[in-house]
Amino acid sequence: MAGSTLDKSPRGSYAYSMATDLIIIGGGPAGYAAAIRAAQLGKKVVCIEKERVGGTCLNWGCIPTKALLESAEMFRKMVQGAKAYGVNVQEVTADWDAMVARSRAVSDRLCSGIEFLFKKHGIERLQGTASIPAPGVVEITASDGTISQLQASKILIATGARTRDIPAFPMDGTRIIGSKQALTLPRVPSSMLVIGSGAIGSEFSYVYSCLGCKITLVEALPNLLPNEDDEVSKTMERAFKKRGITCLVGAKVESVSSSESGVKAHITRPGKPDTDVEAEVCLVAVGVVPVVPDVRGLQLTERGFVQVNDRYETNLPGVYAAGDCIGGVMLAHAASYEAVQAVEGMFLPGATPKKPTLVPGCTYCHPQVASIGKRERELKQAGIAYKVGKFPFQAIGRAVAAGETEGFVKLLFGSEHGELLGAHIVGEGATELIATPQLGISAELTDEDLHAAIFAHPTLSEAIHEATLAADGIPIHA
Ligand code: NAD
Repeated sequence: MAGSTLDKSPRGSYAYSMATDLIIIGGGPAGYAAAIRAAQLGKKVVCIEKERVGGTCLNWGCIPTKALLESAEMFRKMVQGAKAYGVNVQEVTADWDAMVARSRAVSDRLCSGIEFLFKKHGIERLQGTASIPAPGVVEITASDGTISQLQASKILIATGARTRDIPAFPMDGTRIIGSKQALTLPRVPSSMLVIGSGAIGSEFSYVYSCLGCKITLVEALPNLLPNEDDEVSKTMERAFKKRGITCLVGAKVESVSSSESGVKAHITRPGKPDTDVEAEVCLVAVGVVPVVPDVRGLQLTERGFVQVNDRYETNLPGVYAAGDCIGGVMLAHAASYEAVQAVEGMFLPGATPKKPTLVPGCTYCHPQVASIGKRERELKQAGIAYKVGKFPFQAIGRAVAAGETEGFVKLLFGSEHGELLGAHIVGEGATELIATPQLGISAELTDEDLHAAIFAHPTLSEAIHEATLAADGIPIHA
């Protein structure tokens, strides 16, 4: 039977009655993408979300952060750069309240967009906290305490992840904060200690530094953005230092305490004396942990993620999971991909779901950072022979005209066959430019294929062409 019906909960009343093919728990990039794809396949879908659809990405993550970044970037350009471009500006001030209001409005607009798409596709949206007391059964507790039960042969857990709590950094939401509070602080603090230089730490360091906040960014590993290519990280560090951000790398924050006036952190550095850093506010950006709903008998990995097989099935019959709650690459675009794959595996006869193997990473500070495929250190470790093509934006006409000459494009090709293996970009437009090498790797293009392509002039993308030529020692503009 495709779908089934509602049961009255032994513990309360019920509110819904429908034949449901798929119940999705969580309305973020995994949950809403799964809902839409299943509806496209003609399935009756219910999506249960305890807050607003859109998940962390649209409500408190990617989207509102990018809106704030745009405000900060515009302010920085007006203050620091306008004159050099022949634009005289009399007085420029940053209106933080208006910036936050714009960021919230952007978030609201995109969440409304998902609500509209749900209506368009006939997806039922229920508000509440879901649990799975038995396979095929979902219990929903609404905010007023009403409990209802819904049944379907397929259930997808897409509950995402949340900020990691570290007892040594006791977050109180005002002095010691997470990324959510960083989006809506009542004012720009005079100083901020940022723990962790992953995407969250780096992006907020940049936003707040543009607005005059004195940032100390502390990273336990030897490089900022330690997941990225080493040369990219070094370029980032130089750019951040130039902007007045104090970067402490290879430095571990051991503890943070707060008082009426601010925060104090104790930092250890191998081979160097310990140090204390004081600031008005501390942003904790040391990663996330999975959110797992209450599901009887659900098997988790050692690190607490939902365990799934190649088809995104958990150990419970008919119960699937996708997105940040299963671990792997914890990014919105990977979550949506996994969810769509899981749904197609459930409902498309003969479909073999795939796992995300080629996922672009993007960090939206200035300079931007983007990467895809293999890093140089991975190729070295694996003993794969490769050649490098690197080209600086300072030799690209469009970048010079834009006054954005920081950074480079670095491409890695297999030595023997010239296949594109990895791309690492730091600089203006990096997060858009990465799509070209991404398609290049997917399509198994070689250096010669890229040599043969004509890139528009003058564009930043010429740096990709030049980096390809540089890999074979024949760049035109260097
Ligand atoms: P992260 O795991 O990417 O980075 C955390 C960093 O904190 C690491 O580099 C780690 O070495 C460092 N760290 C941990 N403990 C420390 C300590 N005691 N002292 C100093 N440094 C310490 O986590 P994040 O930046 O919090 O991001 C969380 C998740 O959200 C990630 O999966 C990230 O990819 C995702 N995200 C992505 C984007 C984007 O793609 N632009 C933006 C925001 C968040």
